[in-house]
Amino acid sequence: MGEGSRVRRPRAGIVVTGSELLTGAVRDANGPWVARELGELGFEVAQVVLVGDRPEDLAAALRQVTEGGVDLVVTSGGLGPTADDITVEIVAAFVGAELELDTAMQETIGRRVARWARRTGFAGPALDEATRKQAMVPRGAVALEPVGTAPGLVVRRPDGPLVVVLPGPPRELQGMWPAVLEAAPFAELLATVPRAEARSLRFFNLPESEIAETLRDIERARDLSDVEVTTCLRRSELEVDLHPLPGAETVAAELADELIARHRKQLVSAVGATTDELLAEALLEHGLTVATGESCTGGMLASRLVDRAGSSDYVDGGVVAYSNEAKTSLLGVPAEMIAEHGAVSPEVARALADGAREKFGASIGVGITGVAGPGGGTEAKPVGYVCFCVTTADGQVLARDPVLPGSRGDIRERSTDLAMHLLLRAAGGLPH
Ligand code: ATP
Ligand code: MG
Repeated sequence: MGEGSRVRRPRAGIVVTGSELLTGAVRDANGPWVARELGELGFEVAQVVLVGDRPEDLAAALRQVTEGGVDLVVTSGGLGPTADDITVEIVAAFVGAELELDTAMQETIGRRVARWARRTGFAGPALDEATRKQAMVPRGAVALEPVGTAPGLVVRRPDGPLVVVLPGPPRELQGMWPAVLEAAPFAELLATVPRAEARSLRFFNLPESEIAETLRDIERARDLSDVEVTTCLRRSELEVDLHPLPGAETVAAELADELIARHRKQLVSAVGATTDELLAEALLEHGLTVATGESCTGGMLASRLVDRAGSSDYVDGGVVAYSNEAKTSLLGVPAEMIAEHGAVSPEVARALADGAREKFGASIGVGITGVAGPGGGTEAKPVGYVCFCVTTADGQVLARDPVLPGSRGDIRERSTDLAMHLLLRAAGGLPH
């Protein structure tokens, strides 16, 4: 593919304002959300900047994200009626437009606050002034209908980026997003975004370094410069996203096939599905149910299994059997077995799985017992040693006993991930 046919993805910057986000009092929900939406629309998000409520800082943040060359800037927060809500003023100065009173918007906001004002008795000059402030719009901007009380804005900086101004409360910001997509200046920009189907692969227990090495190796034989590859590790799964530039879809498809061929054993999904989605599908499809017998994960697996709506169709229940007595009395693990092999042993994991399956009359049982640490490890059974067993009513037995790395929290989380993966395998939900 020649250089001339390359189409650049438009770049975007995101400026999230709010001093409470810098003190750590509130965790930023808007930056990641907008970044994801823009990414799915085909933008390349160049920067997400978090900035406080000082006017100079906000102005500097707008300049900073623009300097790198962006086609779009999205801001969140600071649209309210109080003195620290300064975003509209700063954006107006940034795009070089006067603020004007939008009387239609003033009426809209007035109607929205009227009922609240009557109920609370806050009607009066202060409220009128707040309404007036929120109805000030930079000349030439498209004002977006408020979801709370503040309108959003779409306004272009001459010879510069399009600026989209959104409210801070995440519910309001997300509620306003459809109106952003419909606003004429945004729709025009969107029409220039090259569309090419992204491919997404998922692997279990595959280190990022392995994929990087595979990519380097493939790249020796062929030009991959028109396919942007990003990786993300979450819940012990590596998601590999392939974003082809328009015209490079075939290169991306061939690259996907090659990655799958080289890491087939770790492949979870060739279309980006998660273990949790695939497990739910497989259990439903085959009419299977699961029961858990958990020790070191303390119910984390059961909780993960019921994360999805409708899980009662395939989860029977679970027992947290933490003490030896509980393992014996609740799930029928023989006391002699624990005495002979230890509570953390493949034998006990199997007995937990069988016990849970039988107790609940489930088609699949899963047992987990391990040394989560930080204390309690021995040379033979170090911290991170976890025994897993999945048994099925039709006689399958899947057992693992790895030593998992990390803190107590990491070990318990990884144990949950691995158990989910084994369940998926037992339910026949992995690619063949
Ligand atoms: P308001 O009219 O409510 O003042 P606003 O557009 O001025 O809206 P902010 O004052 O910046 O928004 O934020 C209002 C509240 O919304 C914050 O106190 C915070 O709880 C929440 N919020 C704002 N920005 C974010 C964010 N990026 N992530 C999560 N919550 C946020
Ligand atoms: Mg505010």
